[in-house]
Amino acid sequence: MTSAAALEDVRAEFIDAVKSVIGDSRPGLHDPHFGGNEKHYLAECVDTGFVSSVGSFVPRFEQDLARFVGAAHAVAVVNGTSGLHLALVGLGVKPGDEVIVPALSFVATASAVALAGAVPHFVDVSDATWGISPEGLRSYLAGLLERRGEGFVNSHTGRPVTALVPMHTLGFPVDADGLAEVAGEFGLILVEDAAESLGSYDKGTHTGLAGQAAVFSFNGNKTITTGGGGAIITADPVVAERLRHLSTTAKLANRYEFDHDQVGYNYRMPNINAALGVAQLEQLPEILERQRALHNMYADAFEGLRIGHKPSETTGATSNYWLQTFLLDRKFAVHKNAILNACLDEGITVRPLWKPLNRLEPYRSSPSDKTPVADDLYSRLICLPSSPVLAG
Ligand SMILES: *Cc1c(COP(=O)(O)O)cnc(C)c1O
Repeated sequence: MTSAAALEDVRAEFIDAVKSVIGDSRPGLHDPHFGGNEKHYLAECVDTGFVSSVGSFVPRFEQDLARFVGAAHAVAVVNGTSGLHLALVGLGVKPGDEVIVPALSFVATASAVALAGAVPHFVDVSDATWGISPEGLRSYLAGLLERRGEGFVNSHTGRPVTALVPMHTLGFPVDADGLAEVAGEFGLILVEDAAESLGSYDKGTHTGLAGQAAVFSFNGNKTITTGGGGAIITADPVVAERLRHLSTTAKLANRYEFDHDQVGYNYRMPNINAALGVAQLEQLPEILERQRALHNMYADAFEGLRIGHKPSETTGATSNYWLQTFLLDRKFAVHKNAILNACLDEGITVRPLWKPLNRLEPYRSSPSDKTPVADDLYSRLICLPSSPVLAG
């Protein structure tokens, strides 16, 4: 068989399997699912005039979210990126610090660090979770850091290393308790980027509860959406209060005076977005069931294929299956772009995984460990149409 014929076979095998799941529909990568009280709550905002930064849906959304996740406090913000930025600044990351982030993530994880004036320091992810592993991180930091005063510095750059932002990739939970231990050993602030992991659990505990704070995203393509939006969760009431204050221009409560006690942000989630969020949270259990059902549909469709497989959660982990993926076997990785193009030509929305962040222009000179696992996953993962509506 010629290699052109071989490639044709690979493409056909993959596209037939995907079509057996999505049929004639051609949804986006992850379309929102509005099946509940969305219109009703939005109309309430319009009718009452409370569409902006004041209104009852914002605290209600915060309470509902905190209850679902099992967090003490939630602070709703305009998007996940600003949530990460605010959490880092509010917890004490300073300009010139280094912050440990995975090389494999959406760019926002690194942008938030840079927006805080700090420098992202990239580390590899593990094969098992696709996120940072405690063992790998501990040995890397032991070789990299040296104690200076109260904290630790990067022995090559001399910069203080002050925080760790692991990410639960595509809804697969990392061992956040293990990472919290490592963070404790090296005096690092732990902020979980849980943007993709609403409804994901590690050994029965919801993601986002292991560190000082965690951040969710409610962008249009996430598990639930508020249009645009995000939230920070924390167990600490003082931190919650500080973050809420910073998110609302650091304005001091007063009947009429405009008095602000520091430089603040305009990051508070508007009421109209929170209204959407309250309706979406009501349907979250059903959405999670659909995402799991869709995972099973793809797993069945890809079973027995020689070119790769559908990755599943590991023992003890519960993934929300936010984005469905297909992992090409290494010997077929060379065909990744041809497969992506063939799918796109047929109107099937597929995407590669994010290009590892240490290869992006703004971060090429940032400190980084070697990242063979991130590079390998990027070379062979294909993200599939993942809209929950596909599960019927
Ligand atoms: C979506 C996402 C964010 C941020 O989300 P926005 O709400 O779009 O700002 C951050 N990190 C990761 C890993 C994400 O997937």
